[in-house]
Amino acid sequence: MRKIAFNKTYFSGKEKKYIADALARDSISGDGYYTARVSEFLAEKFALNKVLMTTSATHALEMAAQLIGLKEGDEVIMPSFTFSSTANAVLKEGARPVFAEIKSDSFNLDPADFEAKITANTKAVIPVHYAGISCEMDQIRNIARKNGIYVIEDAAHAVNSFYRGEAAGSMGDFGCYSFHGSKNLVSGEGGALVINSSQPELLQKAEIIREKGTNRSRFLRGEIDKYSWVGEGSSYLPSDILMALLFAQIKEMEYITAQRKIIFEYYNHNLKKFLAEDFLDLIPEVPAAKKSNYHIYYLKLKNQNLRDLVLKELKARGIEATFHFQPLHSSPMGKKLGYQKEDLQLTNQIASSLLRLPIYPDLSQIELDYIIKSLEDIFSSLVRQV
Ligand SMILES: *Cc1c(COP(=O)(O)O)cnc(C)c1O
Repeated sequence: MRKIAFNKTYFSGKEKKYIADALARDSISGDGYYTARVSEFLAEKFALNKVLMTTSATHALEMAAQLIGLKEGDEVIMPSFTFSSTANAVLKEGARPVFAEIKSDSFNLDPADFEAKITANTKAVIPVHYAGISCEMDQIRNIARKNGIYVIEDAAHAVNSFYRGEAAGSMGDFGCYSFHGSKNLVSGEGGALVINSSQPELLQKAEIIREKGTNRSRFLRGEIDKYSWVGEGSSYLPSDILMALLFAQIKEMEYITAQRKIIFEYYNHNLKKFLAEDFLDLIPEVPAAKKSNYHIYYLKLKNQNLRDLVLKELKARGIEATFHFQPLHSSPMGKKLGYQKEDLQLTNQIASSLLRLPIYPDLSQIELDYIIKSLEDIFSSLVRQV
């Protein structure tokens, strides 16, 4: 058996055709033909008010932080179990990320700890839809509404995931998508900011921030006859070449999701018997109210020693598995912000005992069976040891 990669990008075969077309149209900078096609597609498919394609989810998060007017002294609650970008967006505006616990069954923001951490300075909450399975958005939105704080969804994992029929990214004031090479649908680097408020001033401000502080977006729509510098901004719009690549990907969204679902369910079907054993705490479950995009397949082992052992045994068999987020609160930067490792015990326990398995459309049945057989061997030897 050749080495089995942790992730492989799925290509539909149409990417080159659309990229060549973008070149032929001579529209390779931002907001060209394919940027419009991709944002229309996403807006329609997920019933989104406004979609602005960006260079990354990191940049979409930064835009959202700027749009709500975050400033020094403000606090934003988020899970510690996330990527650095979630917290950086807040830090960049001089505000403070406040790390909250996750739920033991989904590794998503714990609504109770979110509520407990609200202060007079709390301006926003950033729920992260871990692994493509939505947070408890009814509870989170209720708490946020009651306290007058913004909801910014970090939906980097969750393009084409749903909660009670609502798309991830459509439920907060803002949603942030990622099309990074490691996600389900890719443009290499790329993202989108979803603006769910229909306030025209907010939309205009977003377009200005994204276009170097100018009102070029209005000019391109023919609303004004020249454009000028009207505010603070940066450059958050992706090249149309990347959006041509992404166009090929999103047309295959349902196929990609369906292939990942087959693998996810095959893992679950074959591994659930080990839940009766002492060493395996959890395999992912998609509750009836949620629809997943099957971004991640994980095993939650009992502790870090067991996790590291299983990782090592899989590696010895040529299978690339991996851990996931190192909690932000106990990272070097988290410590600089004054957090201590003991602050979030459940997050520490989960992050140190989680393992992710390969899940992607090009994973063959033979490879999948080999991974399962390997896990069965490893687990059986654990049963004998315990
Ligand atoms: C990948 C990821 C991001 C960053 O996405 P980019 O598009 O690479 O900037 C942000 N948040 C989470 C939870 C992620 O997994």
